[in-house]
Amino acid sequence: MDNMPVCHVCGITLTPQSVYKTSNSSCFFECPVCGRYEVGRDKMFSDFDMNHLASFLFYNAYKDEPGKDEKRYHALFRTEKDEGSVFVDKSMVESWYPKTFAERVDKILLYLGNHIRHIGQAISLSARETYSLLFIDRYENNDSARDEEDCNNEVKYFLDSLVDGKYISYSFVTEEARMIYVQISPAGYSRIDELQKNTGHGRDVFVAMKYGDKTKSLRESIRAGIEKAGYHAVFDDEVEHNAYITPEMFKHIRDSKFVIAELTHSNNGAYLEEGYAMGLGKQVIQICQNEVQIHFDTAQKNTLRWKNESDIPDILEKRIRATID
Ligand SMILES: [Zn+2]
Repeated sequence: MDNMPVCHVCGITLTPQSVYKTSNSSCFFECPVCGRYEVGRDKMFSDFDMNHLASFLFYNAYKDEPGKDEKRYHALFRTEKDEGSVFVDKSMVESWYPKTFAERVDKILLYLGNHIRHIGQAISLSARETYSLLFIDRYENNDSARDEEDCNNEVKYFLDSLVDGKYISYSFVTEEARMIYVQISPAGYSRIDELQKNTGHGRDVFVAMKYGDKTKSLRESIRAGIEKAGYHAVFDDEVEHNAYITPEMFKHIRDSKFVIAELTHSNNGAYLEEGYAMGLGKQVIQICQNEVQIHFDTAQKNTLRWKNESDIPDILEKRIRATID
């Protein structure tokens, strides 16, 4: 047992075959909880918050699934060598991580809804998966393990509060292994429906930006990035309506899976559209040219900065794959 490798993110023991050196400077992990990821060997997890990273990888894990030829994996350091690598850095994890109790609950319910195939079925989760699912901190000060009883009390508190909200029911399969069965209750399904109402399930992505001849090439770069990620870009300038907001535009935003806001030109319409999308609970990816100052209310939000328009397709594709898919 002593020589068995462990996943440094979630703490689970791995088989020797699931950890291997990919080069002198990198190491690949195949974890049943966190999915596939690659780290640099000298600065393995650099400045990540390990508790947040554990949940991020679990929720967004790339794993082998029956009938799906999945080649992607998370790269936790910058590497351009492989098609399948999806780069993740600290700011991406932090912008994804839930900020409030209510957001935590919503993310958990959506995860359960996506992973329980038929109504009334249960999902079984190991102790490590449960920690990641419920956003339970495993580490104190980002390195030493937190007291396990403390963690398990938080698990129980959280599960019980979801039961109190009538969102789920659960039972321990075996108390010792801390494996649980979770079922979604009717109120949980209603909440999931409500959350999904505001989330277009299609592949449409609304792009909020300044329209016109001067931004035509910028627009094409954004379109290319969206298409590379497998989505369809929707631009709202077919009709001339610069001076007023159309109901069609709001509908486009409502029907979009997520929204891209290009803020380089400080376009008021783009800020308004972003705000509307955020109010609907949609994810917004902000992009902006390097060095252009953006409005302070949105400046704290993680923004994808670009230097040349020709860089946009690649960086945008990677961001979409890492945060939306
Ligand atoms: Zn793991």
